[in-house]
Amino acid sequence: MKELILCKYGEVILKGLNKAHFEHILMAEVRRRLEGLGTYTTWWCQSTIYIEPETDDSDLDEAYRRMKLVFGFATVTRAIAVDKTPEAILEAAKNDLPDRLYGIRSFKVEGKRSDKRFPMSSPQLAAEVGGAILTAMPHLKVDLHKPDAVVRVEIREKYAFLHAGAEKGAGGLPAGGSGRALLLLSGGIDSPVAGYMIAKRGAVIEAIHFDSFPYTSDLAREKVMDLGRKLCAYTGRLKVNVISLTKIQEQLRRTVNEEYFTLLLRRSMMRLSERMAKARFCDALITGESLGQVASQTMQALGVTDCAVHMPIFRPCIGMDKEEIVQIARRIDTFETSILPYEDCCTVFTPKHPKTRPELEKVLIEEAKADLASLEDEAFAAAEQVTLHGYAEE
Ligand code: ATP
Ligand code: MG
Repeated sequence: MKELILCKYGEVILKGLNKAHFEHILMAEVRRRLEGLGTYTTWWCQSTIYIEPETDDSDLDEAYRRMKLVFGFATVTRAIAVDKTPEAILEAAKNDLPDRLYGIRSFKVEGKRSDKRFPMSSPQLAAEVGGAILTAMPHLKVDLHKPDAVVRVEIREKYAFLHAGAEKGAGGLPAGGSGRALLLLSGGIDSPVAGYMIAKRGAVIEAIHFDSFPYTSDLAREKVMDLGRKLCAYTGRLKVNVISLTKIQEQLRRTVNEEYFTLLLRRSMMRLSERMAKARFCDALITGESLGQVASQTMQALGVTDCAVHMPIFRPCIGMDKEEIVQIARRIDTFETSILPYEDCCTVFTPKHPKTRPELEKVLIEEAKADLASLEDEAFAAAEQVTLHGYAEE
């Protein structure tokens, strides 16, 4: 039995004149993710990318799993592929489809002909295939209204395909179609979700993480890298730039009014992030802030943080409840890592009464006292970069 993977586009279909550009990006992504899994022929036609294994040792299970995580596909299907003759199709319906129909009681068949030269109409084809399935599995019932499974028979360009249902793909837009953005990645629940959401909209993401050694530990840093690796299931790979804030935090603690400490630290993080973004060819920053979640995420505090930089700041979690963010974190498998109990630089020296309605003029007066410019230069110059790999390179 020959099996192919069919990946059908999502929003890319709407891209009009740009469609071919997105198709090229998707094809490159698919080929990269098939690396190490055997030899495949891939091609696109009619808003679908086809993946055909060429050797028996091709790992189609893993290829299928990976394709479900590629942004840009609405559905992914593992389909039985046969010659475009009624005999071959009915043979497969009898012999190969039953394996995929265990545990169901009713089904219906839908036929579709992209190749109109095929000698049966779609309803005829559906009826014949339905008959063949009933011969092999006589206990099943045909139910056109509420079937347990929908079997599809599609006559396409090269093959006829049979399958018992497509699975949802990762959705979104292909990576790279929307530019590059820098994710401020902490060890918390929100920022990995924020990165995932912007990557899903077609941005290639890179990350920046701030640590505060020795106030934060190597374990805290390793936890952030683990979160980055989880994101790699979607992004393929992820570069994480690490900057130490230790001296900046110590300086702030020595020089500024305690209630401004967190705000000033966050402004410093933003400035360093913007600098890193420019150096890494990114045009936007991404954070996991959610309105009202903590003192530094009130409207006024976010306003004061924003005006430390000029780049757009994407905050996809801004209107989400914690529970909604947690749901996504669970789905993308970052949650269990995020809740491991390691400290973050933002939790070092936190003030007892942080300013929740800061005024910019007063913030700037405090900031001037800290005189951070040279310490920021120093921190930036000492940045390290780690490249995390997803399965594609393992
Ligand atoms: P998260 O759950 O993502 O840690 P949070 O609710 O704990 O978010 P904060 O600690 O105030 O919120 O951080 C807000 C945002 O600032 C984070 O979502 C993240 O984008 C960024 N951030 C916080 N700490 C760091 C850090 N150590 N390195 C990089 N970015 C950070
Ligand atoms: Mg945090």
